[in-house]
Amino acid sequence: MPIKTKIDIADLVRENIRQLTPYSSARSEFKGRAEVLLDANESPFETGMNRYPDPLATRVRERLGELKGIDPSRIVLGNGSDELVDYVTRIFCRPGVDNVICMPPTFGMYIVAADINDVECRKILLTPDFTLPVAEIEAAIDENSRVLWICSPNNPSGNLMPKEQVEYLLDIFPGIVVIDEAYIEYLPEESFIPRLDEFPNLIVTQTLSKAWGLAGIRLGAAYASAYIISLMQAVKMPYNVNVLTQQRAMEALSDEAGMKSRIDFLVQARKQMAKDLAELDFVQKVFPSVTNYLLVKFNDARMIYDYLLSKGIVVRDRSSQPNCENCLRITIGTQEENRLLLDALVGFRES
Ligand SMILES: *Cc1c(COP(=O)(O)O)cnc(C)c1O
Repeated sequence: MPIKTKIDIADLVRENIRQLTPYSSARSEFKGRAEVLLDANESPFETGMNRYPDPLATRVRERLGELKGIDPSRIVLGNGSDELVDYVTRIFCRPGVDNVICMPPTFGMYIVAADINDVECRKILLTPDFTLPVAEIEAAIDENSRVLWICSPNNPSGNLMPKEQVEYLLDIFPGIVVIDEAYIEYLPEESFIPRLDEFPNLIVTQTLSKAWGLAGIRLGAAYASAYIISLMQAVKMPYNVNVLTQQRAMEALSDEAGMKSRIDFLVQARKQMAKDLAELDFVQKVFPSVTNYLLVKFNDARMIYDYLLSKGIVVRDRSSQPNCENCLRITIGTQEENRLLLDALVGFRES
């Protein structure tokens, strides 16, 4: 592939999406103030929830804009960032024609979204120390490559992708580059959001599911150019972020200090856990992590997994993933949970 000159993002968009007339919801069709709402066939009887949500989730986007230092016109919200993965695939990839590239071992949704949309996912393995195989990625690119998924910090390995590698790929990739920053709150200074203006083909996704502690409400966000965001707003289901989710998000986002203090605890606990695990003689390696989980290589991961389960402790077996032979992914829990895990492992004897 020749080095890309300047790409026109509109050329990457599927024709039917470029032509799309988005659904226009009742509440977005009037401007101004209204006391009497007889426009949406809702029930008039107050339940606290009888009205449809704001389809643009305006207040949440304004609050995220303040926190991230970016205009709300450059933010779109999804029912979890999972949903945004699907939107990106649908907007930029022609089924049966285009391809996306992802780098296993990584988050599984990029492949699932490609499969659902009948889009080829080219899988280029991360290096054994889980950095980006830049030359191999470059070799896999062709004229139908539309999306490159970079998970950083990467799940399940826990490391950040080297910045120079990411910058290089942003420069040469002839399509959209998505950086999945689901764990970026652990290293906020490494976010690519402040660099969106440098890279018109960049989309950054984040989530309230991890550091913000709200996996249950399903709220993810994508940050990109106003043009890319307008495409995502047009494609998304109008009421994909419900009233309860918007309310809980506003509460959580008003307490950034609380989130940061929980991060401080988890980072400390992760460091301690990494040290303690490394001392066990049936642990081969604890991979370096900047997140709230550790990828740990055991002599026999399945045996440890089953043993822990017999003690009522469930971790994630990642052994079947490339370069993750005999690896379990262990999430950092409360002090009590971490102690239970370590006590159980200390009591384990290889037979
Ligand atoms: C957990 C996780 C997500 C979050 O998905 P949500 O749908 O927002 O809960 C996204 N990407 C990665 C890499 C994750 O580990």
